Amino acid sequence: LDQRIPLPANRDELYRMSVTVNALLDRLQQAFQREKQFTADASHELKTPLAIVKGTLEVLVRKPRTVEHYESRVNACLAELNRMARLIDQLLLLARDDFHSMKPAIMEIGLTAPLEAVMVRMEPFAREKGIALALADAPPCQVKVDPSLLEIMFENLLANAIKYSPEGSAVEIRIERQESGVTCAIEDHGIGIPAGQLPAIFDRFYRVDESRSSTTGGSGLGLAIVKKLASLQSIAISVKSESGEGTTFELTFPS
Ligand code: ADP
Repeated sequence: LDQRIPLPANRDELYRMSVTVNALLDRLQQAFQREKQFTADASHELKTPLAIVKGTLEVLVRKPRTVEHYESRVNACLAELNRMARLIDQLLLLARDDFHSMKPAIMEIGLTAPLEAVMVRMEPFAREKGIALALADAPPCQVKVDPSLLEIMFENLLANAIKYSPEGSAVEIRIERQESGVTCAIEDHGIGIPAGQLPAIFDRFYRVDESRSSTTGGSGLGLAIVKKLASLQSIAISVKSESGEGTTFELTFPS
């Protein structure tokens, strides 16, 4: 794929065709490179929890200890396996979407229903950190979406808002009817994202700062999934953030 057609000396049609074919080959090569990188990153991410489980069990088998010790080690293994299962679910979601085989089931629904369903599921995680999740009063707004895909998007955005916010802070969700369409903003008062990194946060496996993100157990796939699902449903997504101040993700639904 790294071979290119030698450009003929005179600028006739053959010349222009060669330029076009070469440009096409460039794009193909970049796409292959991205896929190779994706596979390498995915393997790396899957290997880590596997290595932890393997290492933990090997030590456990070699050195029998108390029942309490067994229990704590087995629970640690379970947590790693759960992380792995979540990662595999996310990878499958991205892979399916890549092959355009996902057909969203678009229907007209009220926006608060899926949002409230996700808020109920997220509540225990928010409570653990003493974070208040609040949905501001909003007029009833109908949107054309696939409810289950929209729930996955809300789940990822709310999980991030909670993950990257300090204990005791607030996450606010606002629904508004604007000229451009119905919008939904999710605002947190967390660590924020440096301006220079904002364009990359929707890339697969991208994390702003490995060291700060590794303690939160993220995989860097959440926002890539949000972006893919948004484009499948023609939902526009934008983000505003300030380091140390907080982040707001805004979804604009098709009217
Ligand atoms: P992760 O699994 O690491 O959270 P995501 O794809 O969901 O992966 O997010 C990519 C990166 O963007 C995160 O690692 C984090 O650094 C940053 N990020 C996402 N949401 C927020 C937020 N609400 N506040 C601060 N940083 C965020």
